[in-house]
Amino acid sequence: MTSSVPMVRVPMVVLKSCFTHSSQMIDMLNFEHEKQRISYTFFHSISRYFRYTIFTFSQGLDIKTFTQYRLILIISIFFVFFYNLDFYANTLRVYPFITQNYGFLFSLPVVLFTLTALIFTLVASKWTTKPMLIFALIASSMAAYFMDTYHVVLDDSMLRNTLQTDMKESLDLLSIKQVLYFIFLGLLPAYFVFKAPLSYRNVGQELFSKLKQSLLLILIMALAIFAFSKHYTSFAREHKPLRYSTNPTYWIYSVGKYIDKTFASGPIVVAPLGLDAKIMTKADALPKLIIMVVGEAVRADHFSLNGYSNETTPLLKHEDVLNLPHVSSCGTSTAASVPCMFSVYSKSEYSYKKGIRSENVLDVLAHTKKVSVLWRDNNSDSKGVAIRVPFEDYRTDKTNSICVEGECRDIGMLIGLNDYIKAQAGKDILIVLHQMGNHGPAYFKRYEKSFEKFTPVCETNQLEECSQAEISNAYDNAILYTDSFLVKTIALLKQHMQTHQTAMLYMSDHGESLGENGIYLHGLPYFMAPDAQTHVAALMWFDKSFKETLNMSQIDLSQNYSHDNLFHSLLGLFNVQTSAYKQQLDIFRAKQ
Ligand SMILES: [Zn+2]
Repeated sequence: MTSSVPMVRVPMVVLKSCFTHSSQMIDMLNFEHEKQRISYTFFHSISRYFRYTIFTFSQGLDIKTFTQYRLILIISIFFVFFYNLDFYANTLRVYPFITQNYGFLFSLPVVLFTLTALIFTLVASKWTTKPMLIFALIASSMAAYFMDTYHVVLDDSMLRNTLQTDMKESLDLLSIKQVLYFIFLGLLPAYFVFKAPLSYRNVGQELFSKLKQSLLLILIMALAIFAFSKHYTSFAREHKPLRYSTNPTYWIYSVGKYIDKTFASGPIVVAPLGLDAKIMTKADALPKLIIMVVGEAVRADHFSLNGYSNETTPLLKHEDVLNLPHVSSCGTSTAASVPCMFSVYSKSEYSYKKGIRSENVLDVLAHTKKVSVLWRDNNSDSKGVAIRVPFEDYRTDKTNSICVEGECRDIGMLIGLNDYIKAQAGKDILIVLHQMGNHGPAYFKRYEKSFEKFTPVCETNQLEECSQAEISNAYDNAILYTDSFLVKTIALLKQHMQTHQTAMLYMSDHGESLGENGIYLHGLPYFMAPDAQTHVAALMWFDKSFKETLNMSQIDLSQNYSHDNLFHSLLGLFNVQTSAYKQQLDIFRAKQ
């Protein structure tokens, strides 16, 4: 314990010195924007912090008794100061800096510090401390970037979406600011941890230290919470979402939840569904050809069919489409919504674990042996929906003949479909086209130049550098592209009207935030997500002969529909009889 005093002093001295120096430097420089000044101060302080820390260590302090528990305390302080800017900003919005909040606000970093340190302390051991801290620093640097920049919440469904996102999508998001976060909050501190010379004592002493440090941290936390218990009660009960921006505590919690929701003990057994499925159509009727387009990130209020001021659906306007203005999504991300849309479960019943353990509507259709099912994907993948039916990846120029600079166009998915349709002679057909659509943040990449009707547009993936109008314009141009894609899909169906009853269904998987209240992209927990993320664009088109078989008059456009209706409406459209079908959720038959 002889060297404990200098060890504690190091971060304090260093922090003080780097802040003083940074603010002196900043006074000498003139910044045009407040934002530039803040980012400069931020990165400058961090960089000095590291130079000083590493320098101080290299100067040969007595570091022989640098224990793992002390390292945890230092790193936890670091977390509290540099990785929680979004948390402090959100908290100050709810608890402004006024006299009655002073104590509470100052106690928050203490509670956050004790909690972070406690988690690490409990898991610490000779073999785990360094890898754990290095991983936490690297992951938290990225978490901090996304939270500070896009104010996202890293809950378990966001993690699922991120883990299912491929490299190409990640490159869309990559920016200089992200690289800086990675270097200064990820790599450099991780290197410091890697190099920190730790000494270990015997097992008994290490365990005693763990116990002592844990109890001390719990005691401090309890005192801080007890002292401002009124504030903490409202913090915990009425302002629950605030804790979602704590770093690394919340994402660590989300990882636990993700693992719990995803992995179960034992292998995954997929329960069959609708084995009794039978098609009830008369034998002399024309076979059915339905194309289901799964849209990407299109919010309903940016569709001019829904009254939006920018004309984003000029071509669809001239088609005889049935536009559904009030459709809500099952989730706020692709990974949550897409499997839920096709599953037998309603939004309230659905969970990822239940979804992957049950067959979905595509399987039920396949069980009839009279419907050919094909899934073409230009988005990411089918999120587990098309595992047991034919699947074609259209994000590569091997299959998609319309790819420019790595960006494959949705229209490419239509090529070759005529041949496929002809080859399914006499059978009903369901083709699912999973669009790239309005995948953000690089909306400007989602359309060809000829679709750039709304200008000026945001031409960077750094959304916060663009005005809200520029972001919205790029987003609207991408909808124009989808408008053209859907009309081309309808045109393709019209070519088969003599031999089939044809229909197109379109439904977006979730909506998108475009900077309203500083929120971008999508993926917020459903209960706190704005309407922009959950109210989705949806429409349908039927040829004349198909329409005659449906009771269109009973569709109430003012009614609220949701992804829950898709499963049963698809079965209804194909006239499938099965115990899995619920007529009250079928858009076309609910009132019969
Ligand atoms: Zn999506």
